[in-house]
Amino acid sequence: MEPPAGAAGGEPESLSSDLSYQRERMVRLVASRGVEDARVLQAMRDIPRHVFVPGEMRSQAYGDHALPIGSSQTISQPYIVAQMTALLDVQAEHSVLEVGTGSGYQTAILAKLARRVFSLERVSKLAQQAIQRMRDLDLENVKIQTFDGSVGWSEMAPFDRIIVTAGAPSAPQPLLDQLAVGGKLVIPEGGRELQRLVVYRKTKRGTRRQEGEAVVFVPLIGRHGWQES
Ligand code: SAM
Repeated sequence: MEPPAGAAGGEPESLSSDLSYQRERMVRLVASRGVEDARVLQAMRDIPRHVFVPGEMRSQAYGDHALPIGSSQTISQPYIVAQMTALLDVQAEHSVLEVGTGSGYQTAILAKLARRVFSLERVSKLAQQAIQRMRDLDLENVKIQTFDGSVGWSEMAPFDRIIVTAGAPSAPQPLLDQLAVGGKLVIPEGGRELQRLVVYRKTKRGTRRQEGEAVVFVPLIGRHGWQES
């Protein structure tokens, strides 16, 4: 068992203030890359990223890059987490679905901004670790389950916001169906190796699609995603 760390408790004061300093530097870097949403930046100040990476990677936790988290998966780059969260425009009254819990870092950021967060992860071990991290951080408005998130979570729908943190060939129809009118869905769409961030907005008159920057995500594996290779 790893000892608890950061805001989850445990480390000496000097290490804790060094980690806070590194975290502040990470947030400023993300802001300098164009993410201006003050609520998103504050959530990134509040959530200790080092708690979400494997022990041997903790010294790299506040660099602006993705890191391996086991099970061939990654914790996303801080800039991408910030950018996707800003695009999602989460408000305090929102119910949010996340597909691809991974380490739970993005989940925790969403938990700071939304009323409720529902998160689906296909790898049971990652889901269990993320559930424990939510407990350690006292984030009580999160529910995580092991399931193929490409089919959504119909029992909890509709969602005001949906975020997919794995790359899909196209937006899964069940997710578009489970989005509330007035809702937004942010998803990396494209090929298995390279995608673009796409924002869908659902209105009474239909759904609008807007393509953004190029990104690289691990594949969304599932019924409405890619097949396992
Ligand atoms: N946002 C995460 C974080 O902050 O750590 C990183 C997510 S990682 C890039 C993508 C995750 O999506 C992986 O953990 C992977 O197992 C998961 N995934 C892939 N296909 C999935 C599916 N159909 N349903 C649920 N999770 C899926």
